[in-house]
Amino acid sequence: MPSAAQLESILNFEEARRIVIGTVSSLRTQTSSESVSLNDAYGRVLAESATADRDYPALRRSLRDGFALKAISVPGTLRIRGEVRAGDMQKQPLQEGEALEIMTGAPVPDGADAVVMVEHAIRLQDGAMVKIDRAAEPGQFINARGAEATAESMLVPAGVRLDASHIATLAMTGRSAVSVVRRPAVAILATGDEIVDINETPAPHQIRNSNSYMLSALVRSTGGAPTVLPVAGDTKEALEPLLKQGLEHDLLIISGGVSAGKYDLVKPGLRDLGVQFRFERVRVQPGQPTAFGTRGTTPVFGLPGNPGSTLITYQLFARPALELLGGVADPILPLLSGRFEAPFRHKLGLTRFLPARLSSDGEHIRHIPWQGSSDVPALAKANAFLVADHDREAWECGDAIRVMLKP
Ligand code: AMP
Ligand code: MG
Repeated sequence: MPSAAQLESILNFEEARRIVIGTVSSLRTQTSSESVSLNDAYGRVLAESATADRDYPALRRSLRDGFALKAISVPGTLRIRGEVRAGDMQKQPLQEGEALEIMTGAPVPDGADAVVMVEHAIRLQDGAMVKIDRAAEPGQFINARGAEATAESMLVPAGVRLDASHIATLAMTGRSAVSVVRRPAVAILATGDEIVDINETPAPHQIRNSNSYMLSALVRSTGGAPTVLPVAGDTKEALEPLLKQGLEHDLLIISGGVSAGKYDLVKPGLRDLGVQFRFERVRVQPGQPTAFGTRGTTPVFGLPGNPGSTLITYQLFARPALELLGGVADPILPLLSGRFEAPFRHKLGLTRFLPARLSSDGEHIRHIPWQGSSDVPALAKANAFLVADHDREAWECGDAIRVMLKP
């Protein structure tokens, strides 16, 4: 553990993230695209900007159920000339003293310049006439043609990860197939002499390989195509061919072997293969020994091997790199704020990401007891991580703290 003075010189996680984003953005990697059906496009990154095929709305539309009329006709009693429903078109222009019953979403007829809500109208004479006691503003409750978007205007720019609202926009504009960025190829390499496959029964001194599976899931959730390499033993001979193979991918993520131990051979191995490191330590816990470098246009992450460290550092640093490689224009780290349900303390010096439960209303946060970054069961109980700043020691009940949602 570095001294307080040494800690001062280490990057905090925001700075380290900026370095990742700046470095990967400047690599000028080529993204290629593929066409997928709209039904398969959710979560993919749009490769070609989508523009409006026509004005939205394409004609003036009513925003309310009520009566279309000329504003100068009211207050007054008007003749109801008929009705116009969503899906109808009224050809004949409306005259002064006339009203047309109109439904939400229906085209406002020529001649009308206002809609009065049905709640403000009184029908007279078996529905032949309508009495309106208040004045109307020209334009009220009418969505002008092109008010939402004009033809050819930008609706969804390239580089956006498609959410449900984007899918609606693409459907609205008649796109049944969409050009999306091809998934980056991500190599995942777990290291460690103690690691055995999940189908094996580990001896007491061995542990099963959870990281390759977890990283594979994380990479998928970020839009990458994972390839899991065989686990590398802690020797130069075992590591080198697998590091080489990993560097042939768009991104290489390694777990374990980056700490200061005698058998932590990942960084020297990567250096020998021409990787240049941009940082080798971040002021976070778990995850302090995180290393990030590049060889040519390939970014490489050496993440510490305890699953808690691997999860947090993937989320903070590897995720934005993969998002950029996958064409996302602007990776973000969404942080919420929660209020402690009980007092909380930690040791100054490192920003800690600790497993926590956020209440169902999203307001309160509770720290989950955990035994350190190997405590996978505690991770599984959490639905979020509290983000305890390196320069604050104590929080009282009700104090706010930043919260990172679980990936
Ligand atoms: P290291 O970063 O190599 O020092 O590893 C730290 C700890 O993480 C080790 O003691 C292992 O118990 C654990 N670990 C390393 N790799 C994995 C893995 N692939 N799956 C689960 N735990 C791991
Ligand atoms: Mg190790």
